[in-house]
Amino acid sequence: MTAEQQNGVSDSRRFEFQEFGGPIAPQSYELPAPAGNEVLLKVNYCGVCHSDVHLHDGYFELGGDKRLNFAMPLPLTLGHEVIGTVVAVGDQVTDAKPGDQRLIYPWIGCGKCGACQKGEENLCVTPAHLGVNKPGGYADHIVVPHSRYLLDISGLNPGDAATLACSGLTTFSAINKVLPLADDQWIVVIGCGGLGQMALRILQAMGIGNVIGIDLSEEKRKLAQESGARHSFDPNTPKLNRVVAETCPGTVQAALDFVGNEQTAQLALGLLGKGGKYVPVGLHGGELRYPLPVITNKAVSIIGSYVGTLKELEDLVAFAKAKNLPPIHIEHRPLEGAAQAVADLEKGQVAGRVILDAGN
Ligand SMILES: [Zn+2]
Ligand SMILES: [Zn+2]
Repeated sequence: MTAEQQNGVSDSRRFEFQEFGGPIAPQSYELPAPAGNEVLLKVNYCGVCHSDVHLHDGYFELGGDKRLNFAMPLPLTLGHEVIGTVVAVGDQVTDAKPGDQRLIYPWIGCGKCGACQKGEENLCVTPAHLGVNKPGGYADHIVVPHSRYLLDISGLNPGDAATLACSGLTTFSAINKVLPLADDQWIVVIGCGGLGQMALRILQAMGIGNVIGIDLSEEKRKLAQESGARHSFDPNTPKLNRVVAETCPGTVQAALDFVGNEQTAQLALGLLGKGGKYVPVGLHGGELRYPLPVITNKAVSIIGSYVGTLKELEDLVAFAKAKNLPPIHIEHRPLEGAAQAVADLEKGQVAGRVILDAGN
C-alpha cells in the first residue's frame, strides 16, 4: 500500500529556501512512500532553534571578519526539533506503526564511520542530520530513515517535548561532559536565557546545588536563582574572580557557556580552577586568544559540545519523565509562520522558544 493510499492525500508541503538568506516558502511535494526501514510521519510540532537562523544565513561568524560558510545541499527544509505521528512504514519496520506519536532524533549519521560506530552519530563525518543535511520538520510530513530514531514520549506533553531533541539534548550532553562534581566544586552557567535556563533546571533536577548563574540581565539572574542557581552575578562585576572565590568556597570546576563569544570565553577560562572544564555551547561567534601556558599549568580542558548522541536523548527522555522536568517558556505558532519565526529569532524578538504547530 502506498503512503498516498494510506493517507488519502497525495501531496505535502515543505517550507524551504532555495538559497542562503532567501525566502522560506512552501513547496508542494508528492508524499513519499517509505521503503525498507524508513518511517513517514505527519509533523505535529517543530521547534525553531537559533541554529536555524545560522543555517538560513549560511555561515557562522568566526571573528576578525572571517566566516565559516556552510555547504549543505539546497533547497533546505529546516527544523530539527520534531514530534510527529507515524502514518506509514517501510516493509522492514517492525517496531513502529501508524498512529504512534514519537519524538525524532535528528542527528543521524552514515552508520559506517568511526564516530557512528561508537554511537556518536551527531559527530558523523558525512552527516544526514534532519533539518540540516536532509529535509526537516518545517513541513507537513517528514521521512526518518530508521525507526530506531523514534522515541516514545508518552507521559510528556508533546507540545513541549519537541525541544528535547536539540535545546534539551545540547544542554544535557554539555552537563554530562563535566560530571561528576565533588562537594566543594562549582559549575558556572554563562547566559541564563533559553538554553541556560534549561541547563539550570536539569542541574536542579539532578540535585546539583553548587551552581552559579552569570548574565548581564538582572531579570535573568533572578530567574537563574529561581531555577536553582545558588548565586548569580553580573559579568561586569569588578574583580569578579575574587567575588566568586569569596562567595563560593571551593573551586569552579566547570563553565557551561551558552553565549559563546570572546568575552564569555575569557570570563569562563578566568573563573576555572585547576583541572577545570570549559564547555562552549553557544554560537555567537568570534575567536579565542588565551595564554597557552595557563591552559597547561592549570590543566584546563576546552570541550566543544555539539548536540548529543541517540543514547543521550533516550536518557534525557527517561530523565524528563522521571523528574517531571519543567518546560521552558514556549510560544506556539502555526506552521505557516515558519519564515516569520526565523526572522523574529534573528532580530531577538522571541522571548522563549517558538514551536510550529503543523495542525496535525
Ligand atoms: Zn537546534
Ligand atoms: Zn558516520
